[in-house]
Amino acid sequence: MSRAEPLYRLQLIDTEIDKVAKRVREIDAAIRNNPVVNHARQELEALQKVYQRVNNDQKMLDLDARSLDEKLKSEEERLYSGKIKVAKELLDVQQEIESLKRRRANLEETLLAAMMAIEESRKAEQKCAAALKQALKNWEEDKTAMRQEDQELRKRYATLVEQRKGLTNAILPSDLNIYVSIRTKKPQAVATLRNGACSACGVEPSSQMMQQARNGSIIVICPLCGRILYGA
Ligand SMILES: [Zn+2]
Repeated sequence: MSRAEPLYRLQLIDTEIDKVAKRVREIDAAIRNNPVVNHARQELEALQKVYQRVNNDQKMLDLDARSLDEKLKSEEERLYSGKIKVAKELLDVQQEIESLKRRRANLEETLLAAMMAIEESRKAEQKCAAALKQALKNWEEDKTAMRQEDQELRKRYATLVEQRKGLTNAILPSDLNIYVSIRTKKPQAVATLRNGACSACGVEPSSQMMQQARNGSIIVICPLCGRILYGA
């Protein structure tokens, strides 16, 4: 048997182990954290603050309106009370009443705008809350599927580790060392020879190297990329 062949098979197993481990990490992260949910939560929080602010604005405006109404009422009572005997004072009160009425009319417009702002803010908040609810629901469904996938991946991982153990026992320790040392630098340590070229980097090794790689009696290293060449 070619010395590179078990290393090639080891490479296939390690590649799959890497893939499985990567997916397990991805799932772990996706179960702990969901960007769509995070975004919707932040958005909702911001909208709730806006809602609170426009509500407070409206309450303050309401207070202003009530105080203006009271002033207006008391000025009108004074005007019609018959207690004012001086014409100048009468005129002053009339002017004050006119001014209060103008302020009240302006305030009414502001109040109307505030009510509209509240309504808009409430709608935006409701829409966002619904989006968050949906995102949470989707996440829960995804989590169920991901937990299932995670279980299967862990089983597969255990199987691969077992296979790896069996395989490495049959490999010469010196060959395994070469493999491991290449793997510390690049995930793929073994390249196949395809149409006379290294499948990883494309270089065409000398015919002597090709011969040695096919023969398999020694470990042949690609002169360009440094990977073990496996000539099937
Ligand atoms: Zn190469």
